[in-house]
Amino acid sequence: MLNKYLHIIENSFTGYFNYLITEITTPSWINYFYWLIALSLLVWLLEIFIPWRKNQPIFRKGFWLDSFYIIFNFFLFSLIGYNAISNVGVELFNDFLALFGIKNIVALEVQTFPVWAQLLIMFVIADFIQWNVHRQLHKRAWLWKFHQVHHSVKQMGFAAQFRFHFMETIVYKSVQYIPLAMIGFGIEQFFIIHMFAVFIGHLNHANVGWGYGWLGYIFNNPKMHIWHHVKDLPEEHPYGMNYGLSLSIWDYLFKTAYVPTNGQNIELGFAGDESFPENFTEQLTYPFQTKKIKK
Ligand SMILES: [Zn+2]
Ligand SMILES: [Zn+2]
Repeated sequence: MLNKYLHIIENSFTGYFNYLITEITTPSWINYFYWLIALSLLVWLLEIFIPWRKNQPIFRKGFWLDSFYIIFNFFLFSLIGYNAISNVGVELFNDFLALFGIKNIVALEVQTFPVWAQLLIMFVIADFIQWNVHRQLHKRAWLWKFHQVHHSVKQMGFAAQFRFHFMETIVYKSVQYIPLAMIGFGIEQFFIIHMFAVFIGHLNHANVGWGYGWLGYIFNNPKMHIWHHVKDLPEEHPYGMNYGLSLSIWDYLFKTAYVPTNGQNIELGFAGDESFPENFTEQLTYPFQTKKIKK
């Protein structure tokens, strides 16, 4: 039994390493590595040519830190540990179900639906789950400590999307796993949804003054997400607002939307962020320390 798990861990590491090498050496239309680079360059060019805050440097405060976070959270974290953790987690979960004689938790067969419908359903459900998780990241003190890393951004730019603690990946993915598995989605569908979400997320954090007009009531956007990062929270939203990731519709439906004025030059961060660490290692270890920065 234990051997099986050790094997999974070993295969996860070598498997992912091979995958990463292949990914870099073989460009294709479904290649995470090159899509990530292309989307990053595209949004960065928008920031350079049509900046919202014209006096914000192209290499803003935190640019290099966030660039490293992109590489770490998008690739290295999977390489180092997440792949192994999740494969073991999935196997443990299946073994646990087997105790009750359950072999398959698929409750809704969507494989027979047309591809566009599968993608749409998965995108909307995954985004709604993420909206809920994001709210919890703000409401629960122990989760907020991890999420503070993302809110430590003081100058906003596309790469800020990827400044987050790796625990967030574990929390988001674990919560999403069971509901998505129950709907019977295959892993192949992830690519297009994932890259679309990365693109919207880049734009949400970009130094670009877009609100998308009426589409802003459906999709999250730079003018809305900047208020999610405001330092001084309004009284009516003591834990924050605008929790949407790709979609803003949840915030409008559940009354957590807040875009009072043009947020172009509002101060970003959280109360006490002056003493929050500014380098990668300290930001990762910060939530595990006992000293607290109050919200
Ligand atoms: Zn947040
Ligand atoms: Zn953000």
